[in-house]
Amino acid sequence: MTVGRELARDERKGIRRLVTGWCANYDSGEDICLPLDGSCYMLGKGWTGSFCRYFRGSVLPLDPVLEKAVCEEGPPPDTKPCAVCGKPFLPEGRQAYCSPACKDEGNRRRSRERMRKKRAKPGQGCYDLGLPEASDSKGS
Ligand SMILES: [Zn+2]
Repeated sequence: MTVGRELARDERKGIRRLVTGWCANYDSGEDICLPLDGSCYMLGKGWTGSFCRYFRGSVLPLDPVLEKAVCEEGPPPDTKPCAVCGKPFLPEGRQAYCSPACKDEGNRRRSRERMRKKRAKPGQGCYDLGLPEASDSKGS
């Protein structure tokens, strides 16, 4: 038998945000689920498992981190905080940022850092040109 676990507070908040923000069946004026003509089943939910089918299929995927967290059995997913904004996300491979925007920002920061290090390095001129040693002069 499968028993759901209790939803964490953040997960319940995330579900509410998705329902009120994205669910096409949710009427924010009346605060009801239109097809049910009653309160949204997902908003009162305290446990994982048996989600509203529409929510599960069309609304929850908008937040892949939350989707993984509430739908998969076992330990919470392997999320990583974004290197720029700190938001948790599911990394693909060695990805360090949650979004392309953060990736751009991250790259900008990195190249700024590189420039600073380069400039900070003490005088490396270009005297290593392989010129022959001129000090050893033999008389003729
Ligand atoms: Zn980010």
